[in-house]
Amino acid sequence: MARGTMSAMPVKHLLILGGTTEARELARRVSLMMEKKVRVTTSLAGRRPTTPSLAGEVRIGGFGGIEGMKTYIAENAVDVVIDATHPFADQISDHANAACAGVPVPRLQVMRPGWRMPPGATVLEVDGLDGGAAILPRVARRVFLTTGQGGLEAFSGLDDLWFLVRLMDAPKDPPPLTDFQLITGVPPFTIQGEQSLLTEHDIDTLVTKDSGGEGTEAKITAAAEAGVTIILIRRPAAEPGPLAETVDEAFAWVEDHV
Ligand code: NAP
Repeated sequence: MARGTMSAMPVKHLLILGGTTEARELARRVSLMMEKKVRVTTSLAGRRPTTPSLAGEVRIGGFGGIEGMKTYIAENAVDVVIDATHPFADQISDHANAACAGVPVPRLQVMRPGWRMPPGATVLEVDGLDGGAAILPRVARRVFLTTGQGGLEAFSGLDDLWFLVRLMDAPKDPPPLTDFQLITGVPPFTIQGEQSLLTEHDIDTLVTKDSGGEGTEAKITAAAEAGVTIILIRRPAAEPGPLAETVDEAFAWVEDHV
């Protein structure tokens, strides 16, 4: 070896399936701490109007199903995959499981834990958005709906209820609801801010996915304190295979696999 040169270690390619705080933080940490060893690409579905700034490279848009993801992994020499998508984004997680097993490349799913409900909270757990919509007329009059843009259709037809709908971005089309007010907001939210919304709009029921995470937990605390009923949509099961709950665990797994 010539003096002053080092044999270059092959750089490993990490694909992070993103769209969450955990994905963003993992990309930041791996880019910072394994810069010479790992190239990071974060994949986003492209649902939001603007692309967030993330450490490493970013690709946007669907892969075209399981076969499309397999092709992407092969063509871009991806060595390891972290599925850090949202706990309710179950289609992309299913695809990641199948595609990574097919290539094969190692894959880890990151799924943060669901929320712990405060003592004394009135909580009705339901399966799916339809389950939430089915129970609402029996328990609610004025509803704070926080299930996201893709989840609004399930609540159409509930014409006797009033909805406060909160989305991250203003939608192209109005919500398919009869009586509502639309607000936009991006986490993190504060308990005080959530309390004000509940009071100002005389909310009696909160509908939320059991997304977990600190950024949106304030609504649960505020609802419990205000005696607002919480309709909690159960999360889909994790994929089979390795599972991490935190960015720390995911980072350790990456260290072991590159
Ligand atoms: P989904 O139903 O599981 O996925 C639907 C399709 O969208 C997938 O089959 C895939 O298309 C594409 N897709 C999803 N995530 C992708 C990613 N990270 N990179 C490339 N393509 C992706 O997903 P979803 O519930 O619509 O969520 C979309 C994204 O928003 C996810 O990345 C998720 O992390 C984020 N998110 C979701 C929620 C939620 O409540 N669902 C909340 C916050 C953030 P192809 O089949 O063409 O590959």
